[in-house]
Amino acid sequence: MSTSPKKVVVIGAGPVGSLAALYFSHANWEVELYELRGDLRLPENLSLNFSKSINLALSDRGIDGLRNVGDNEVLLKKVLEETIPMHGRMIHSGKPSDKGMSQGYDVHGRFIRSADRWKLNVQILDALAERGNVKMIFNHGLRKMDLDAGEVEFENTKTKESVTVHTDLVVGADGAHSATRRLLQKNVQMYYEQTYIDTLWQEYHIPPHPITGDFQLSPNHLHIWPKQTYMFIAIPSADKTFTCTLFMSPSLFAGLGKSREKHLAFFKKNFEDVIPLVGEDALFDQFMRNPRLPLISVKCDPYHYKDRAIIIGDAAHAMVPFYGQGMNAGLEDVRVLFDHLALHPGDLAAALASYSKHRRPDSHCINDLAMRNYIEMRASVTSRAYLARKWVEEM
Ligand code: FAD
Repeated sequence: MSTSPKKVVVIGAGPVGSLAALYFSHANWEVELYELRGDLRLPENLSLNFSKSINLALSDRGIDGLRNVGDNEVLLKKVLEETIPMHGRMIHSGKPSDKGMSQGYDVHGRFIRSADRWKLNVQILDALAERGNVKMIFNHGLRKMDLDAGEVEFENTKTKESVTVHTDLVVGADGAHSATRRLLQKNVQMYYEQTYIDTLWQEYHIPPHPITGDFQLSPNHLHIWPKQTYMFIAIPSADKTFTCTLFMSPSLFAGLGKSREKHLAFFKKNFEDVIPLVGEDALFDQFMRNPRLPLISVKCDPYHYKDRAIIIGDAAHAMVPFYGQGMNAGLEDVRVLFDHLALHPGDLAAALASYSKHRRPDSHCINDLAMRNYIEMRASVTSRAYLARKWVEEM
């Protein structure tokens, strides 16, 4: 049996890595958190946040992860204060005359919340900054690991200098294209599966109403314009805007080229009611300017190596976003990991092995559900809506 290690190096200061660092800090480990990019809290680094959708659906799964750290649920309370409840989805046909059809999420009134990913990440980083046993090192990318020797090498992205640190445990939370996972594969005979779906996502923005300054759509819904093979969605933000995403195949995007006319005609045909909400010029500007990003799904197993390393969050199970559970599952990973550490006190190898064994079926399952929900969101909701409407009309 190994004795409890003292130092953990967490790689990646996204929501999952930051939360993991906070859990380890409260468990009295010496924590070093390394992040490839700059500190999100600094204004000059704000644009770095654009690589992930700005608004996310936060559900009980993620909330439980945030609840279990520190005293009196201080972090959770701060996070929840900044969220907006979404009681259901609102299905839009795209016709200006159609005000949308509300489909409640839960007969008992339970709901999910819209959370600003940047704000959530900053709140966790702020909580870490208050901890005496945590060092946060930005602009450092993982390059090499010698796990048996307990050595990890980073490159300072500004000076290009190499820095080698010693640690008892490595926690890789460095996202879908995880370097930790790639390096771990040298030590572990890892089952690994990666899929890109034939869909890109592009972000749009609905500002507040120009006269009233209020939300232009119901703030307590996740809005969906389902079009069978593609869809547009809108999620509310606390500043009365909506972050919108167009999910569509690369060939359909390419078919619109750089033509303002084709783009407008496409929106007129499919999402006509969105045009005045975004504004015709802004809509085309965002179409031209905002990146179109791929969607990856990753499954692997196991997630750990001896008592030396573990991967969590997107590094372990990146999923397509249609179930709104990627970050939620990652925050849950941290809670579950600490459940297994508690079950095996003083035996880190057993705790990590037990985590890998128990987490695999759950995370593979949620990846599959996420993939399945793409069909639900872009197509099946319409047939349900049709049936529901008919049912109401016939009453
Ligand atoms: P990331 O957020 O990717 O963070 C990883 C961090 O590691 C980054 O800061 C990165 O810079 C750093 N890093 C990378 N490489 C290195 C390296 N070599 N060395 C050091 N650091 C490194 N999830 C939900 O729960 N609900 C939703 O509604 C939702 N909607 C989504 C919508 C879209 C369009 C997309 C794309 C995703 C959505 N997700 C959603 C998923 C969610 O964004 C991710 O699951 C979540 O961000 C994963 O967090 P993470 O901390 O594991 O990884």
